[in-house]
Amino acid sequence: MNIIDGKAISAKAKEELRLEVAALSEKGVSVGLAVIIVGDDPASRVYVNNKKKACELLGIISEEYALPNDTTMEELLALIDELNNKKEINGILCQLPLPRHLDEKAVINAISPEKDVDAFHPVNVGKIMIGDFDFLPCTPAGVMRLIDETGVEVEGKNCVVIGRSNIVGKPMSMLLLHRNATVTICHSKTRNLAEITSKADILVAAVGRANFVTPDMVKEGAVVIDVGINRLESGKLCGDVDFENVKEKCSHITPVPGGAGPMTIAMLMANTVTAAKRQNNLL
Ligand code: NAD
Repeated sequence: MNIIDGKAISAKAKEELRLEVAALSEKGVSVGLAVIIVGDDPASRVYVNNKKKACELLGIISEEYALPNDTTMEELLALIDELNNKKEINGILCQLPLPRHLDEKAVINAISPEKDVDAFHPVNVGKIMIGDFDFLPCTPAGVMRLIDETGVEVEGKNCVVIGRSNIVGKPMSMLLLHRNATVTICHSKTRNLAEITSKADILVAAVGRANFVTPDMVKEGAVVIDVGINRLESGKLCGDVDFENVKEKCSHITPVPGGAGPMTIAMLMANTVTAAKRQNNLL
């Protein structure tokens, strides 16, 4: 059994991007990301800080817009409009979830597709579906990179994704499909889940339930990618996979933390660099 080191793979990806940002800078092209955070959700704060840190490491200019909890839709949309038109900003992300009184769908739709580095705008989602996309869906793209690092071929394999969210499950399935896998998407209404997952050569779990994937659900020798991030009562982070018991059964497995998580930020940075290149007619 091999543990896939997401931290190291992410560091490698970020180093490649750092060199790319430096090369762009030599040509007089800067790369800028605007990060909007509304309210004081502690998890969102951690994510935003990590994104800012990654920008610093790579030489990407980051602008943070921290708005109060009672920000109105008009104020938020006005800020997005300003950033859509700001030349120095190549990518815009609005940290989700937003406070309940704000309309997430309208916010996603307001971000210019050319600056939508999270790839949540319907235009970018549609492009991902077609397979001709500008921006990577960050978490799924990170997972693909982890799978590729194992050296396991995706084409022709039975791949099962547990979870059908717009952020992880659905785009994950699309990326696997584009790589010629046979893909099954499981969700909360799936019957005989273990029967399906235990046929998977590559199993991706994106459920949000601690220790949900148990050994009986995993095929001997499978690649298991755990996207879940769950906080136990002890405060400890864990994934969706019962890591200790499942690991003996697979050929490769990701830990949590240190697996899929660090990859998401690296892919976000990759999208920001892509956005800058596109906006400067370098792609
Ligand atoms: P979500 O709540 O939107 O989706 C969960 C999915 O799990 C749903 O599609 C649902 O149908 C499915 N599900 C729920 N119960 C099930 C069951 N009993 N059997 C089969 N399927 C079931 O969550 P999400 O946004 O897709 O995130 C999933 C997990 O991944 C969360 O733990 C989240 O924190 C984590 N996540 C991690 C990253 C990262 O960077 N690593 C990024 C996004 C999300």
